[in-house]
Amino acid sequence: MTATKTVVVVGGGIVGLAAARQVQLTHPRHTVVVLDKEPQLATHQTGHNSGVIHSGIYYRPGSLKARFAIAGSRSISAYARDRGVPHEITGKLIAATRPDELPGLEALRRRGVEHGLEVRMLDASEAREFEPHLAAIAALHVSSTGIIDYVAVTRSFAEDLLSAGGRIQHDTEVLSIEPQGNGHAVRTDKGDVSADHVIACAGLQSDRVAAASGAEPGARIVAFRGEYFELTPEASALVQGLIYPVPDPDFPFLGVHLTRGFDGSVHAGPNAVLALAREGYRWSDVSLAEIVSLGRHRGFRRLARRHAGQGLAEMRRSLWKPLFVRELQRLVPEIQSRDLVRSPAGVRAQALSDDGDLMDDFVITETDGPAGRGALHVLNAPSPAATSSLEIGAEIARRLTLSDR
Ligand SMILES: Cc1cc2nc3c(=O)[nH]c(=O)nc-3n(C[C@H](O)[C@H](O)[C@H](O)COP(=O)(O)OP(=O)(O)OC[C@H]3O[C@@H](n4cnc5c(N)ncnc54)[C@H](O)[C@@H]3O)c2cc1C
Repeated sequence: MTATKTVVVVGGGIVGLAAARQVQLTHPRHTVVVLDKEPQLATHQTGHNSGVIHSGIYYRPGSLKARFAIAGSRSISAYARDRGVPHEITGKLIAATRPDELPGLEALRRRGVEHGLEVRMLDASEAREFEPHLAAIAALHVSSTGIIDYVAVTRSFAEDLLSAGGRIQHDTEVLSIEPQGNGHAVRTDKGDVSADHVIACAGLQSDRVAAASGAEPGARIVAFRGEYFELTPEASALVQGLIYPVPDPDFPFLGVHLTRGFDGSVHAGPNAVLALAREGYRWSDVSLAEIVSLGRHRGFRRLARRHAGQGLAEMRRSLWKPLFVRELQRLVPEIQSRDLVRSPAGVRAQALSDDGDLMDDFVITETDGPAGRGALHVLNAPSPAATSSLEIGAEIARRLTLSDR
């Protein structure tokens, strides 16, 4: 790309900023413009997550999630070190508390080795050297996991973008993306923006933005709220670092875990409750249109039939604190209900195929467009997309360069 062009990025979360920054750095003569409907960056998933640098251990070898998380955990740590963004490589324990979880834990150990990660199986007493209050019968120590402030990372990406000549426009909702000459007209509630290229990283709204640009996304976003509790300062001594359960292989989420932050506070969560609105941070956030649309979606009806038990159990745990506490007590039996104070929730954007499968991998697609060039849409970027953000940004910049030849 040599001529000067305008590249519009929809979405000011960590993925949008990582893509915008990388495109602007790769093509300094272009102008990259980020449009976000909110008054601040990182308002949605990026500002409401666990703040964990994932090692990549969970993900299928060869998948984008595995490739990008393994490389991303290193690149984001190096970036944070370079820019003075708060982060720490703490390691974590994945703890088996029942004999039937041991095969799953061993499978994770093998996968970790296959991914080239530093992992070590611990017996119960070795695990207690890391976490004296843990009730594990065995645990896997993963050394490259860490904690980081993803809002600070996003702000730092924004500074990189602005100093390289890019722009950020807040309070601007993208309504549709339409063909215009050899490029696109991006229609917003603040007027139209002409663009040679469009990259849509709209998180919880990504399928809607894709549909509004004439694309057939083949998937819909289902919003899963992740609720957290914080341990009281007195109880936080029960947890030294990061403690995860052995994940359920049929469920894409990692299970309720315990995470100690930089300030010594310990968060428990997130669970995974079907949100009744796209940005449904509380039970009272209900969108009738969203519920009707979910009910009409063939894939969602299949998913609901298949996972009704699991879904209802998550809802009960959300509404009845003692059940949430019981889940945590499997890991740390001394945690009591009085030790937990509710803390703000996040909402995950998880793509669901029309056949009812929760899409496992990251999905980045290019729609048909004028002169064979369409918009790039990030249609599925749930966890570990924050960890992987620099790699996703690099992949998007690479695809944009190729599509421009
Ligand atoms: C509870 C929870 C815990 C998580 N924990 C971790 C973790 O520990 N580690 C990890 O790596 N990942 C984690 N994740 C995942 C991670 O937060 C996300 O993968 C990542 O933040 C996705 O970034 P994004 O930019 O795609 O989406 P978002 O941050 O949601 O950004 C999308 C942006 O698009 C904007 N937008 C939407 N529609 C429009 C429109 N029409 N016009 C203009 N702007 C629009 C929104 O305002 C928003 O700012 C977690 C997620 C959740 C919810």
